Amino acid sequence: MADNSFDVIVIGSGPGGYVAAIRGAQLGLKVACVEADKLGGVCNNIGCIPTKAMLESAKYAKKASSLKDFGVNVGDVTLDIAIAAKRAQSVASQGNKGVAFLFKKNKVTTIEGWGRLAGNGKVEVEKDGKKTTYSAKHIVLATGSRPRSLPMLEIDGDRVWSSDQAVFAPEAPKSIAIIGAGAIGMEFADVFSAFGSQVTIIEALDQVLPLEDKDSAQVVERSYKKRGMTIYTSARVEKADVGKKSVKLTFKDKAGKDQTIEVDRVLVAVGRAPIIDDIGLEKAGVKTDRGFIQVNDRLETTAKGVYAIGDCARPPLLAHKASHEGIVLMEHIAGKGHGWVDYNNIPNVTYCHPEVASVGLTEQKAKEQGLDYEVGSFPWSANGRARTAGETEGFVKIIRDKKYGEILGAHIVGPSASELIGEFVLGRHLESTVEELERAMHPHPTLSEAIAEAALASMGRVIHM
Ligand code: NAD
Repeated sequence: MADNSFDVIVIGSGPGGYVAAIRGAQLGLKVACVEADKLGGVCNNIGCIPTKAMLESAKYAKKASSLKDFGVNVGDVTLDIAIAAKRAQSVASQGNKGVAFLFKKNKVTTIEGWGRLAGNGKVEVEKDGKKTTYSAKHIVLATGSRPRSLPMLEIDGDRVWSSDQAVFAPEAPKSIAIIGAGAIGMEFADVFSAFGSQVTIIEALDQVLPLEDKDSAQVVERSYKKRGMTIYTSARVEKADVGKKSVKLTFKDKAGKDQTIEVDRVLVAVGRAPIIDDIGLEKAGVKTDRGFIQVNDRLETTAKGVYAIGDCARPPLLAHKASHEGIVLMEHIAGKGHGWVDYNNIPNVTYCHPEVASVGLTEQKAKEQGLDYEVGSFPWSANGRARTAGETEGFVKIIRDKKYGEILGAHIVGPSASELIGEFVLGRHLESTVEELERAMHPHPTLSEAIAEAALASMGRVIHM
């Protein structure tokens, strides 16, 4: 095979692209991955990973004031978001080097530059004005997404930020308005509030974290308000005046009353848009559907031999969904596929404090679908381990099919929700019943006992309540 020809070329090295490239190479395929920026993509370099590092700092900042209750006197606590950002940058940089290492180890060729489909199994890569053409039997688009702007509020990187600027903010603004209470809005609200900003959240829908169960959203909303944040739901920004030193936002609140606030900065967190422009879609005959690259159940686009995975392909825009698509697709390309991605079993996590995690149906969805279900809920205040940690906000909630005991949905708000949700994902994957979840012994004292208790609660047999 000539140097410029491969079995597979992956365009984009985020958690979809780099994982796909490694899996393909493991299976003996000759794989190249094209990347215009840093290996690891948005997730590793300016998204999931550094944001979680900032949230870790926020957790300590928040905890610092209660350390004396644990018998730990640390004197006057001072906060420095610039140091937190530097640490987050260094964590991201380790991950970036990690992807380079894994590519080398697995013999994946890295091609630096902007990749475009050139039709007939060709990919053109442009770097510093120079174009090189490569060919491959299979091409995987994993180009990711970028922040969306609002028509009246362009992201300028100065007064008006997207997550790209917020993640390594050199200082916490005195005041910040966050538009959108999805995962990005709620995670950055946590970070900036912990570092002393006056935070106002404006969300168009009637609850924060609109994709989550209403009970989960309520716990977070209450907790944020207790921390001094202001939250407007059912409120849509109508006008924005961006000045040199501040931004004035006008919006209608839930009651239909006009409100105007003036803040130092605004974070626009109203979703992300797939990257589909200037990647040669038209030339190769790849169609789009509502802004995403159109794919079928086998992740094939409308052009033969061209596939799409991750954020550019279809929602949800989650790193773990992208990685799974990449692995499964490569196994099929290598002729070793078994099954496709189970889109009904994708966990959702927001790493704010308290953490929120879920899988499957919300109670509202179960009701809409007319399912015959039972709800079991167990509060952290009744779990010994949560009490020892001083983290008693929230609950574990199970939505159980009455007849067959199926885990229809699971919702956790509170300590280690992001980790505990794995038990439900595995349970659903193995088609376990709620009864089986409870029968499996959970160690004492642990947070995981709340899962067994919620399971018991859904069957009317809770012990510790
Ligand atoms: P999102 O779509 O999850 O949330 C955007 C929110 O903005 C929605 O609740 C929407 O109702 C609201 N909104 C839209 N227009 C508005 C307006 N004009 N005024 C007020 N509110 C408005 O998007 P996001 O939080 O920006 O995140 C982007 C993507 O990245 C999502 O798909 C998200 O799942 C993903 N992400 C995930 C994580 C995680 O898993 N922890 C973290 C960050 C991002």
